[in-house]
Amino acid sequence: MISFSMDAHMHFDLYKDRKTVADYIECRRSYTIAVTNLPVLFEKYYPDYQQYKFMKLALGFHPELACEYQDQLSIFFKNVDKTRYIGEIGLDFSTSDLNDRKGQVKIFTEIVQICSEYKNKILSVHSRKAHKEVMDVLKGFQGIVILHWYTGAIGELKIALERGYYFSINQQMVRSSSGKKIIDIIPVDRILIESDAPFTYGLKDKYDLFFVNEIYAYLTETRNISLEDISKIIKNNLKKILL
Ligand SMILES: [Zn+2]
Repeated sequence: MISFSMDAHMHFDLYKDRKTVADYIECRRSYTIAVTNLPVLFEKYYPDYQQYKFMKLALGFHPELACEYQDQLSIFFKNVDKTRYIGEIGLDFSTSDLNDRKGQVKIFTEIVQICSEYKNKILSVHSRKAHKEVMDVLKGFQGIVILHWYTGAIGELKIALERGYYFSINQQMVRSSSGKKIIDIIPVDRILIESDAPFTYGLKDKYDLFFVNEIYAYLTETRNISLEDISKIIKNNLKKILL
C-alpha cells in the first residue's frame, strides 16, 4: 500500500549508486528534494540530473562543513539561479567552537539574504541546537521555509508556525518520544514527509520509500484521519509550496 509519496529531505550525494536512486524515485513518482552538502556537489551532479521530473536537486551548504569550505560560497552564488531548491543549509551548534559557530552564522546569513531576493526559493533548514539563532537569521526571509527534523523548543516552533513555515518529519521521529511530542503539535497542513536518508533507520545502504507508510501510519493513528485523507492533505501541502 502506498499513498502519495514524497521526500522533502534526502541526501542524494551520499549514495554511491546515485543513478539507481534517482531512477527509483522517478519510477515511483515520489516528489523529492535531493539535498547536497556542498555547492561543488550540486555543481557536479546538476548536469546529469536537472531533467528529472520528480527528483529535484537542491543546492546546499551543510552547517557542519560551512566553515571548512567557506571558499565555496562563491560557487553557491554562481549556481543559485539554477534551482528553486536550497538545502541542506542552516546552523548546527553541537560544536562548542565559537569561531565555527560565528562562521556558520555568517555563511547562513549570506545564503538566506541572496535567496530572499528571489522570493520563490524553498529552503530545507537544519537547526540542531541552534533553533533560536536559525529563527533570528530567517526573520523577514521572503520564500518558503521547511524546518527539517526539528528538535528545538516549543516556543520557537510556535513562532515558526506563525511565520508560515513547514516541518518535514521522518520515521526516526515517529519512533522516539521526543520526536512524537514535536510532531503532535504541528498542524497537519504544515507537515511534509522526509527521510533524511541515509542517516535514518533502514536507509543506510539502499534508498527505499517504506518510510512514507510508517509516517502515514503514525499520523492516521494520532490525528484520527483516514489514510486517504492524510495523504491528500500532505499532497496539498506540497502543492501549496510549489505554486
Ligand atoms: Zn540532512
